[in-house]
Amino acid sequence: MTPWFKSLSFLCVLYASVVNGFALDREAFSITNYDLNLQIEPEQHRLGARGKITLRNDSQTAQKIAVLQISSSLDWRSVKAGDKPVQFVTQPFTSDIDHTGGLSEAIVTLPQAIAPGGTIELEIGYEGVILRDATRLTRIDTPEEAATSTDWDQIDSRFTAVRGAGYVAWYPIATEVANLSEGNSLFEVLARWKNREAGSKMHLKIGLTRDGSDPQTDLLVNNPSCSILYEAMGGFQHVSADCTYEPLGQHVPLFVAANYQSLERPSVVVHFLSGRDAAATNFADAAEKVGPFITDWFGPVREKAKTADLPDPKAAAFETGALLLTPLASDDSKMAGLAAAHQLTHSAFLSFRPWIEEGLAHFAQALYLEREKGRPAALDYMGLHRFALGEIENPTAMPRSEDEVNHSLVNTTSEELYRSKAMYVWWMLRDMVGEPALKKAFAAYRPEQDKEASYMPRLIAAQTQRDLAWFFDDWVYRDRGLPDFKVESAFSSKTSTGSFMLTITLDNLGTAGAEVPVVVKYSGGEVMRRMEVRSKNKAVTRVEVPAAPQEIVVNDGSVPERNVTNNVFKVAPVEK
Ligand SMILES: [Zn+2]
Repeated sequence: MTPWFKSLSFLCVLYASVVNGFALDREAFSITNYDLNLQIEPEQHRLGARGKITLRNDSQTAQKIAVLQISSSLDWRSVKAGDKPVQFVTQPFTSDIDHTGGLSEAIVTLPQAIAPGGTIELEIGYEGVILRDATRLTRIDTPEEAATSTDWDQIDSRFTAVRGAGYVAWYPIATEVANLSEGNSLFEVLARWKNREAGSKMHLKIGLTRDGSDPQTDLLVNNPSCSILYEAMGGFQHVSADCTYEPLGQHVPLFVAANYQSLERPSVVVHFLSGRDAAATNFADAAEKVGPFITDWFGPVREKAKTADLPDPKAAAFETGALLLTPLASDDSKMAGLAAAHQLTHSAFLSFRPWIEEGLAHFAQALYLEREKGRPAALDYMGLHRFALGEIENPTAMPRSEDEVNHSLVNTTSEELYRSKAMYVWWMLRDMVGEPALKKAFAAYRPEQDKEASYMPRLIAAQTQRDLAWFFDDWVYRDRGLPDFKVESAFSSKTSTGSFMLTITLDNLGTAGAEVPVVVKYSGGEVMRRMEVRSKNKAVTRVEVPAAPQEIVVNDGSVPERNVTNNVFKVAPVEK
């Protein structure tokens, strides 16, 4: 065999493995640095990118092949290493991590194998269009309207908004397949990618040129350090942004270009589209009203909250840090207050741990409702989250041991857990340790010192005499499922002073412990006690009431429980 044949057969082998894909380790490389220059042409829906990226081999073996992925509506133009073009083949790759349901992969043969931990810088170029596309949702039979109001990303002359990883791969990523029809697959793939990128740096330059006669275009990027420059030259308007995400953290880089008007208040800027003045004012007023309450709980605002309008009145809201994209289409002040409470919590309290960052923002919404309308309104609102929680906290089975760890609040990638369950955990902690103690713990929190999962629990424990180790273990470090309370027995007897002494034995049949409110109703009133009952355990309490006790009701809805059908107990009349 001639050498020529040898290399050809080697290429064929390589080609076959590329096509079959099984030999590729798509997640071998992380991208530790992006230096990208984007040109956006809204009239053509077009994005062109040139720049440099640094790949780091995060696998255990040396790698000669790197896989780079961008949205399937974009095309690879060039890949160079050290000024020399490198060999790459492109192929489509079906994955729901992108709104189009597919990626354009560049399978790059590196000039030399990169050892584990080693890095290489590549110069890249790609371009294409970004149109509104909900293929990944419609192909799994999501109704058209719901699908397009979820995947609203697009580059368009009227409105441009493009979110990054998980929506539109407008910058290179490297991921295994994500499949929306397979349970949590998309969230797991995305969470893995975000964790690998959390320490990365992204330097972004965005340039956008439009005709001078077009309405003024505003450019928004979800990065407080951005400098934005507006220029008019020769009948054209040019907008440019220069932004650095360092580190990227859990945030998804995004850009918005639209003809906005804005309304500025001390804690928030509201960017709104033409005709949305009333809703924008309503939102800004609500944010101003809720501001002092949020500051009292979570400290002063670190960066001004930004809210930007989405034209589709049904578009799903999206938040990233202190930026909220939402259709400003309603003048309902309660809804605006709820949204503002969440957003201002983000602008006041920073944590890279989702159960803290998102859990607290949802907790703040419940606190806001409690203040506006009382505890039952807050519990009703939290009840809306309980449905999501009940779906994933399997009512019949004990969590599998690996799930106990993977689904714990400190590790989970599930939104239901780090939003809904975490909100309940914060609420229960507030009920157990009291507001002043919890506020002091929040005030002591420093995101840069949060190096261990136990950091926040220790700050809370330092503010109370109570032993909370069991609570954190059942709810935060592990997913032990939910409690299930049942009054096992209740006996009452008449005292010498004519009152009644009720002895209640409360059983927790569930797999997580909690402190739960127990209400004793008697003719003419009720009294409330809080009882701490560990999982698979019982607790006894004695309650004195002025008249014969009639009924015991366990749990006002503040503790998520897997079975609430056994929570009411009729007390037998006192034996003479
Ligand atoms: Zn949030």
